[in-house]
Amino acid sequence: MTTRSPLPEVVRDGEVLRRQVAELRRRGNKVGLVPTMGALHEGHLSLVRAALAECDACVVSIFVNPAQFGPSEDFARYPRARDADLDRLADLGVQLAFVPETADVYRPGHSTWVEVGSVAEPLEGESRPGHFRGVATIVLKLFNLAGADVAYFGQKDYQQALVIRRMVEDLNVPVEVRVRPTVREPDGLAMSSRNAYLDPGERARAASLYASLCAAERLVAAGQTEAGRIRREIETILIDSGEAEIEYIALVDPETLHPRSAADGPTLIALAVRIGQTRLIDNCLLNAAIA
Ligand code: AMP
Repeated sequence: MTTRSPLPEVVRDGEVLRRQVAELRRRGNKVGLVPTMGALHEGHLSLVRAALAECDACVVSIFVNPAQFGPSEDFARYPRARDADLDRLADLGVQLAFVPETADVYRPGHSTWVEVGSVAEPLEGESRPGHFRGVATIVLKLFNLAGADVAYFGQKDYQQALVIRRMVEDLNVPVEVRVRPTVREPDGLAMSSRNAYLDPGERARAASLYASLCAAERLVAAGQTEAGRIRREIETILIDSGEAEIEYIALVDPETLHPRSAADGPTLIALAVRIGQTRLIDNCLLNAAIA
């Protein structure tokens, strides 16, 4: 007979979460928080493993935050897999899962929003107006409710992590932000809950995002650093893979997100591409480590 790991304690009420975490910290535990929208995959679980390794207790939040989806985006069909998620967290030994309802998070009359400045404006900020306002607001709420010592984010959403860091710094939020590398499928596709939308043909074509980033890295390693040339290389690979609608291919400074004309210093290459109906993002850092 196999024995199952106990499920994490599921907390729906923010005030209960606050008390539970405060009690853990009062007893001397360092608490890590991993904010997620659920449909957990190995990318999320890598953040959970880091939290469990580096902290004494780990809280995972699962909340599909309506405020970060635009009106024509995929909020309604975003994958939800509550029971499987809790099983996965149990297997890793997570103690606490915060799984609130929308009505608890956004109470009637909610009218305060967090607007982060310049790092939230280009790239995803331009393609998805209001997205980072929704992200920053929910993450600040989670930080306030959980009162964790450390919070974990993935490099897959590089700009999101930068926006959160900016908010934490600007609003003096007492939490340490740690960013972990992107976890990929064997063919290089960055793991994402949205990959579930891809049909088999689209799934095969989706590997071109990572392939194009690798080709860009090779060009730079060979001494070709001109941004326009690198962008064309990426574009060719994406287009050759079949139907791919390119939203942006950007070479930017990894801290300011200002455009760079050459990848001759620290550079973030960020992509957003639509394959069929599915919008995918990916990125790589050149001449820099994730901060
Ligand atoms: P999400 O559920 O998509 O909001 O993601 C929750 C957290 O997991 C965010 O910090 C993401 O950046 C991170 N994450 C998502 N996919 C990956 C991945 N493939 N590798 C590492 N982290 C990821």
